[in-house]
Amino acid sequence: MPEKYRNLHIKLTPQRLAILSYLNGNRTHPSAEDIYKAVQKQYPTMSFATVYNTLEALKEKGNIRELKLDSAKKRYDPDNTPHHHLICVKCNEIVDIHWAFELSLPDKTVQGFELIGNHIEFYGICRKCKK
Ligand code: ZN
Ligand code: MN
Repeated sequence: MPEKYRNLHIKLTPQRLAILSYLNGNRTHPSAEDIYKAVQKQYPTMSFATVYNTLEALKEKGNIRELKLDSAKKRYDPDNTPHHHLICVKCNEIVDIHWAFELSLPDKTVQGFELIGNHIEFYGICRKCKK
């Protein structure tokens, strides 16, 4: 079991472990449907509800991040370190941007918020879609 899942405090059934190992190191930002399709090959009896509920539990624990960058479906990101994203406007491919931008907001724009983070979305056309 990957180290980062050890302290999750959710019951780790073989099915849930299959979901976790599919997510571990996955850079494609899969949707619940993508994850369901992938783990079903190994566990044909796995239900979509199991996949979805596991994702929700992992999200609650802060272990994965839910992305709303794709208007068609929610996508999930197992990389919970701060990073930004580049999104293909044609095929919705989502690519990580690990770059520490120097960002600050002038006091007068903060409007009493306690700032806890930021996320930048870049839009473009990916290499595959450009052909
Ligand atoms: Zn594309
Ligand atoms: Mn990401």
